Amino acid sequence: MVDFLLTDEQREFQQLARQFAAREIKPFAAKHDETGEFPREICKKAWEAGLMNTHIPEEYGGLGLGSFEGGLIAEEIAAGCTGIGTAMEANNLAEAPVILAGTDEQKKKYLQPMTEELIFAAYGVTEPGAGSDVASMKTTAKKVGNEYILNGQKMWITNAGVAHWYYVLAVTDPGKGHKGMSAFIVPRETEGLTVGKKEQNMGQRASDTRSITFDDVKIPAANLLGAEGDGFKISMGAFDHTRPLVSCAAVGLARSAMEAALQYSLERQTFGTPIFNHQAVNFMIADMAKDIDAARLLCWRSAWMIDKGLRNTKEAAMAKAFAADTAMKVATDAVQIFGGYGYSKEYPVEKLMRDAKIFQIYEGTSQIQRVIIGKQLLAEMKVPARV
Ligand SMILES: Cc1cc2nc3c(=O)[nH]c(=O)nc-3n(C[C@H](O)[C@H](O)[C@H](O)COP(=O)(O)OP(=O)(O)OC[C@H]3O[C@@H](n4cnc5c(N)ncnc54)[C@H](O)[C@@H]3O)c2cc1C
Repeated sequence: MVDFLLTDEQREFQQLARQFAAREIKPFAAKHDETGEFPREICKKAWEAGLMNTHIPEEYGGLGLGSFEGGLIAEEIAAGCTGIGTAMEANNLAEAPVILAGTDEQKKKYLQPMTEELIFAAYGVTEPGAGSDVASMKTTAKKVGNEYILNGQKMWITNAGVAHWYYVLAVTDPGKGHKGMSAFIVPRETEGLTVGKKEQNMGQRASDTRSITFDDVKIPAANLLGAEGDGFKISMGAFDHTRPLVSCAAVGLARSAMEAALQYSLERQTFGTPIFNHQAVNFMIADMAKDIDAARLLCWRSAWMIDKGLRNTKEAAMAKAFAADTAMKVATDAVQIFGGYGYSKEYPVEKLMRDAKIFQIYEGTSQIQRVIIGKQLLAEMKVPARV
């Protein structure tokens, strides 16, 4: 039975997030975009409203919501501002591996406090020389007695500057490729760990992106997540839970751009009529509406699948690729509909176009999503991919 009706609880979360975005995010979005200031106060209010860390299980003080509810919230928050939304939502990506692979003790130590006060965490996998090709990363973790010693560098880590702890993927057995990688929780206040300067990004400028350097960073062996060699699997498995959310955020941005374009097209007149009445313009808006709906349905399906315990790697990649590409196209077309005004910072759509771009890059580029879809298709046919 397929049912597109939201439950009362889901609708309440959606409404709460929608009202929060309208009241606490949208009015401050331009300021944070201009200054790049991290939106700590807004995050604090969102945390108090129960809109952050929503998937931490109830036994650790969280709401234990699924990816579906997380996605509903992510779309609404993103409709307010995706820079502020990314600052809020990055915790989900750092927490997901701990929820999936952490011991009871690790969950109590690292997840529970996040339900008691506003704490940030960050997911550290990408390196200066390895992004899409995760298996070629170089950061090492060497076991010495009851500790691991980490050396290397991570790059482009969202919320690195504000995080209390990091999820870190490192090589423990260099001869074994991706099966020689292990996952760790690394507390911020550890000797030898340094955080780089905030990157000056094109869009989503309220979010904080930095490098992290590990110089003989010693952490207890108890901070290993899962078993040695499980790291790659844990890191990729987390994406099955978080890609539906980030895809929903792309839908939220696209929705905002479409609403702005529609409104403007009804006000702006050329040749004696609102530009909406020119078919070339209203077809662009019709395409926006159609693609946004299609993207949302892909997002909802992929979130629903993982919440039901079904493998959704292909569907989450489809949602991510389609929603990210839709956000980019809709935002670009919105700028077109605004004409010269679309190119100006005085109007909202140029920010949306800059903000949209990163959806095609982080949490796996749009090309990598297609690589994943292709691999999964072959796996479903049980045909070996040619090396
Ligand atoms: C603002 C921002 C925030 C980020 N946040 C995080 C974070 O919190 N944690 C984290 O770990 N990382 C984060 N990242 C890193 C992000 O996930 C990577 O930038 C991304 O995965 C791409 O890696 P790369 O930059 O090394 O590009 P590359 O891997 O070098 O790719 C370059 C280009 O080649 C294409 N390409 C590469 N391989 C293939 C292939 N096999 N087939 C087809 N095309 C291919 C890519 O699609 C891309 O277009 C963030 C990045 C940014 C910019």
